[in-house]
Amino acid sequence: MQFDIITIFPNMFDSFLKESLIQKALKKGLIKINVHDLRKWTKDKHKSVDDKPFGGGPGMVLMAEPIIKAVNKVKQKRKNTKVILFSPTGKQFKQKMAESFSKLDQVIMICGRYEGIDARVEQIIDEKISVGPYVLSGGELPAMLMSESISRLLPGYMHNPESLIDESHNDEMLEYPQYTRPEEIKIQGKQISVPKVLLSGDHKKIKEWKKNNSKSI
Ligand code: SAH
Repeated sequence: MQFDIITIFPNMFDSFLKESLIQKALKKGLIKINVHDLRKWTKDKHKSVDDKPFGGGPGMVLMAEPIIKAVNKVKQKRKNTKVILFSPTGKQFKQKMAESFSKLDQVIMICGRYEGIDARVEQIIDEKISVGPYVLSGGELPAMLMSESISRLLPGYMHNPESLIDESHNDEMLEYPQYTRPEEIKIQGKQISVPKVLLSGDHKKIKEWKKNNSKSI
């Protein structure tokens, strides 16, 4: 699975790619994440990527041409690829989408900045995606969020693949509460203990408790 991320802030991805399971998956070759600096596809000496919006209005807009060139360059022919554009006006990203994207060979993500992106870029994309009903300053956090949620569904990514089974948002459910040691802790003067059934060793009852304490969405 290959991710190609087009951004004007490639350094934002440095620590994301160097930690935890993402780093392990990269080392194992399970995933490949290429972060591309959009300025590589500019043609003037200032490497301009943005300009003022036609019709007026505040701020700057990312120009279409460098983005379209970048996508054409990184898109792998004959591969199962999707081109994603991040925008708060897009379709809401959900676990079901992560599942369907995890079947692809390549996901190309275009990170907007400033006031957004010249709308003509939409001619070359497959999906416009929002990560939630709020506004961020750029598409970089959405790109990290989306590549992580997709990668962790790939066989071999998780230490324990069973982690994926009961997980929230799987089968339209939200996971039951989890507890670990110690069995009892004092919080604001009150002893709070773990639900007794979880300590009982009775697997049937535990399974029932987990089911009863999972919520449907
Ligand atoms: N003026 C735009 C917001 C631009 S925010 C508007 O009102 O719709 C700058 C960039 O951040 C966007 O182009 C997009 O790529 C990214 N972004 C911001 N919020 C986002 C969200 N909720 N989901 C996905 N991308 C988002």
